[in-house]
Amino acid sequence: MRTPKVLMTGLTLALAGLAGLAGCGTAVDPSWVAAAPAASSAPATTRPTPAHSHSAAPSHPAASASSSPSSSPSSDADGADVPVSVDPEPTKTKEQHHGGPANSLMKTGQAGVALTFDDGPDPVQTPKMLDLLKKTHVKATFCLVGQNVAAHPDLVRRIAAEGHTLCNHTWRHSLTLGKKNASVIRADLQRTNDAIRDAVPGAEIRYMRAPGGNFTPEFVAQARELGMTSIYWQVDPRDWDHPSGESGDAHQAKVIHGVKQHVSKGAIVLSHDYAQPGTISAYETLIPWLKQRYTLIALP
Ligand SMILES: [Zn+2]
Repeated sequence: MRTPKVLMTGLTLALAGLAGLAGCGTAVDPSWVAAAPAASSAPATTRPTPAHSHSAAPSHPAASASSSPSSSPSSDADGADVPVSVDPEPTKTKEQHHGGPANSLMKTGQAGVALTFDDGPDPVQTPKMLDLLKKTHVKATFCLVGQNVAAHPDLVRRIAAEGHTLCNHTWRHSLTLGKKNASVIRADLQRTNDAIRDAVPGAEIRYMRAPGGNFTPEFVAQARELGMTSIYWQVDPRDWDHPSGESGDAHQAKVIHGVKQHVSKGAIVLSHDYAQPGTISAYETLIPWLKQRYTLIALP
């Protein structure tokens, strides 16, 4: 069965008519540190920055099926069998996997399913998630916010030491960074990488995820120049979304159902280890279920 690229409710479908999809980012207030109006019950974190809501579609154009740049202009005009230069990423599966905004990656490119956890490290939730992953022998990918890295370098060291993949999620989770000029984008990404490498000298940081999934071509280009592939997601169980009146149990059930219904081979799954205690609970159920059906991988 083909599944939709991402989870969409009717509402977000309507909202996202010309834009992309709801995702990981504070739409109301682009400041990571600002109070998020949609945060529900106070998350169990000691950080003053509350859960950020993710209530609107990113501003990028909808992912375009025709967006792949894989056709190379480098074929030799004289017909000599000069090897055609290949893109840095595998071209065979490019259309399939680079379906996110600005050609960002939606799938792993292999059968394995990648769990990705964003916005941390969180001094309360991240250790719980790491404990769960360790107990279940699962490797995942963590998209880190620079200022949280600077506040909790010990947790970054633990993430790396336990074999998880590191991903740059910008310095302060600005939802509009991709619209800034190249030098601003570059400086933000570099600052975040520097903080990660202050915590883990020599750390490999091969991925970048735009807050809210708000990739732009310039954003992706700057990430690539720093050696990072831009990753979107295929499955978003909306663990960031706390509609008023949604109970904790209902929220958890929503996350579990969202993943079970939409995951497929090769999916990149978006969730949050920052200020989302319900996510930890949901994955206590989800990981055994997923492991029976898929191989769970850290992005390579
Ligand atoms: Zn985020």
